[in-house]
Amino acid sequence: MSYEGPENEAPRPRSRRALTLTFAALVPVALLGWLAYSALGDEPGHPSEAAPPSAAPGGTSSPSPSAGPLAGKVVVIDPGHNTGNFRHTAEINRQVDIGTGKKECDTTGTATNAGYPEAKFTLDLAHRLRALLEKQGATVKLTHDGDRAWGPCVDERARIGNTAHADAAISLHADGSAEGNRGFHVIMPGVVHAGAADTRPIVAPAQKLGARVAGGYRDATGEPFSNYLGDGTGMVTRTDLGGLNLSTVPKVFIECGNMRDKSDVALLTSGPWRQKAAQGISAGIVSFLRES
Ligand code: ZN
Repeated sequence: MSYEGPENEAPRPRSRRALTLTFAALVPVALLGWLAYSALGDEPGHPSEAAPPSAAPGGTSSPSPSAGPLAGKVVVIDPGHNTGNFRHTAEINRQVDIGTGKKECDTTGTATNAGYPEAKFTLDLAHRLRALLEKQGATVKLTHDGDRAWGPCVDERARIGNTAHADAAISLHADGSAEGNRGFHVIMPGVVHAGAADTRPIVAPAQKLGARVAGGYRDATGEPFSNYLGDGTGMVTRTDLGGLNLSTVPKVFIECGNMRDKSDVALLTSGPWRQKAAQGISAGIVSFLRES
């Protein structure tokens, strides 16, 4: 299910064929020849030079963490909410400054009627997305990795992207709307210039990122654009989200579906479907980054 790049096509069969030929030639020579072959194969004195895969002809091998089309690019993934938030209401209800005013540090997020929490969905999707982007060579940072009791607060989530000088940042969510409301939408920052918030430099690139993510997501999952927000475009602009207002790097949110709609829940709770979702988001981010 994962991306397979040309680096996985290292031309190893050639040396294997050579070995096979050598072996075939030696078979009639019986024991003496076989011993000679064994000694040859050992190459005493040069064990470390025995045909490393990266030395194979062809030029596209030698995979390493920094190789790939996104080498040098930084992506920050923000898994929305935190499964521990509901046990830390005092902390997450603390007000933080989002430029246009004050807002809660974080929220619990929604859940399916059967109790599958949005925060669990977003972290799983983040892991899948991280793996795909890292295979493309990107440096990926998560705002949290299930490694803290609650949060981070929305202002800190934005700061993590800013500090990392992310080339793209995305906040992963699923919605909690009414049954019958279904589909996904991408949320982009509107122009905000107030207090610590100044989105003017990022509005245009974030719109482009948002369009690419929406297109990639729809292609990969078949999930329709939201039928209850965005006038059927799958795109929504907001100026009331701290995670976007305080961002200085191109950033969007994606609401992957509605956790209170039966049709969407069947998808959101499926691991193989979440892999498709991650592939779609990855494709959108890759498309954006390869042009930026
Ligand atoms: Zn959410």
